[in-house]
Amino acid sequence: MSTHSPSAAGATHVGHVRDNNEDAYVITDRVWAVADGLGGHAGGEDASAAAVDAAQERLEVHAGSDPEQAVRAAFRAAHDTILMLAEAEPSLADMGTTMVLAWRDDDGMVRIGNVGDSRAYLLADGELRPLTTDDNEAQALLDRGELTAEQARVHPGQFRLTKVLGTGSPEVPQPREHLLPGTAGRLLLCSDGLNSELSDDEIAALLADGTPQQAADRLVRAALDAGGHDNVTVVVVDLGSGA
Ligand code: CA
Repeated sequence: MSTHSPSAAGATHVGHVRDNNEDAYVITDRVWAVADGLGGHAGGEDASAAAVDAAQERLEVHAGSDPEQAVRAAFRAAHDTILMLAEAEPSLADMGTTMVLAWRDDDGMVRIGNVGDSRAYLLADGELRPLTTDDNEAQALLDRGELTAEQARVHPGQFRLTKVLGTGSPEVPQPREHLLPGTAGRLLLCSDGLNSELSDDEIAALLADGTPQQAADRLVRAALDAGGHDNVTVVVVDLGSGA
């Protein structure tokens, strides 16, 4: 995979434990996405790659329509593409994926959407801010006040996703959406192979300096050094430098 814009860069690694890298990412001038194909499901690799490609294509052809609809349409396109692939190959019927994407709309606003537990963070004014909320059982318990944030971080429910793209579901999962208040700062998209190995403070420190490619490579290396129990993928975008 290659980088098309010097203001954005990605890096991915299979890790130290798994045989396949089921993560995928895409980078264009306006669309950035990371997807994490489901472990234990056939075709996780195909599902994540198909999802980011379909979403990116859908957003590239978007012309003047409602930007909120465009983000939802991108997730629908990703979901439908996975179902189509699964229908053509019954052994892949279960395949699914998470996806987090960021898109700079026609007005220059950056819109974020996510399904599953791949995340987006914004580093601005020296502060790392999570932009997304995971779709998993630990988060659901946290939302209901049955866990504290501290308990949720180590709860086994964090590994059970409550929403994914694909997996044969006829219902299109609606993404959680977020509009960035400004257009400055450094954006990070990542699969859980990053944030399950590194704390937010570690991520903030590694993300802060150098080019997007240097930061992306440094984050992946740190996740590997911390154990590399999962595939790890990051996309780093300098907002405001190319808008
Ligand atoms: Ca993962």
